[in-house]
Amino acid sequence: MPYYPGLERFKLVEKMGDGAFSNVYKAVELSTGRKVAVKVVRKFELNSHQEGNKHLNPQFKKRPRATERANILKEVQIMRGMNHPSIVKLLSFSESDEHYFLVLELMEGGELFHQIVKLTYFSEQLSRHVILQVAHGIRHLHEERGVVHRDIKPENLLFDRIPIIPSKNPQPKQFDEDKEDEGEFVPGVGGGGIGRVKIADFGLSKVVWNEETMTPCGTVGYTAPEIVKDERYSKSVDMWALGCVLYTLLCGFPPFYDESINVLTEKVAKGYYTFLSPWWDDISPAAKDLVSHLLCVDPAQRYTIDEFLAHPWCQESFVPPPPT
Ligand code: ADP
Ligand code: MG
Repeated sequence: MPYYPGLERFKLVEKMGDGAFSNVYKAVELSTGRKVAVKVVRKFELNSHQEGNKHLNPQFKKRPRATERANILKEVQIMRGMNHPSIVKLLSFSESDEHYFLVLELMEGGELFHQIVKLTYFSEQLSRHVILQVAHGIRHLHEERGVVHRDIKPENLLFDRIPIIPSKNPQPKQFDEDKEDEGEFVPGVGGGGIGRVKIADFGLSKVVWNEETMTPCGTVGYTAPEIVKDERYSKSVDMWALGCVLYTLLCGFPPFYDESINVLTEKVAKGYYTFLSPWWDDISPAAKDLVSHLLCVDPAQRYTIDEFLAHPWCQESFVPPPPT
């Protein structure tokens, strides 16, 4: 495990995720023994100009660009106020010369992305269990915090513990027979042993303007109408993404895909997707109806989070297991 000056009160245990500028570690807080996740964000990247000058001015490379700093502080600021069971909690924030450290609630189960890969796809009941938790998190962001996440995807949706998939789910490729019925029942959501799913990664999220009061959350606004209009449909980007996640949960592959980035962009722009046979043949009309109200090109027509939650498919508490 690497050593980070400034992070001495934690013992790093293993790497859980990495991106271009961040590494996430499972760690133990030495004073309490509490297990946490620490997101370590590098403060700067040396560009060639700085590289050439570093022996002349060693301080030069130590200064994070102002926008980078503003971004990480925004991520921290937005997460700090959150207290919701479907949103990963920020426990503390600190920085050293070279890094920012976000200490987060540990999500031991890892990414939803990995579970989809492992299982091929989720049953409707399990998909509902997962997506409803995500949706309640989004509802909290949109309706109570005025925040748009802007990066909802299976890599940023995390399980609090390693999920045990109940036997009703279609058989995964490498199913662990021993664990088949160990799943504990989660009241009200029927998700078996899958536990809690939470939204992570507020690196791209943003506070949006309130359409009625024309103010950013909690402040008096002098905002021009064009800005408010610009942001009118900003929440709908999360709803599109939610539709993509739901589609992927149900069938195991994303709604829009092409090897050529240009063709893919065109498909997304036109909203061109299909309920591909045979994968979608046994999926209920209600689920398809819900997906189609999310993957709707016109943001004004797209479901809001409250419309999503009111849809009959979300209201169902039981779907019979598929015929064997
Ligand atoms: P990035 O901005 O680099 O995408 P994320 O916050 O999404 O940073 O973290 C990157 C990855 O690290 C996630 O996709 C996930 O696999 C893992 N990760 C992030 N936060 C946690 C956490 N609280 N618990 C466990 N793993 C996490
Ligand atoms: Mg991420």
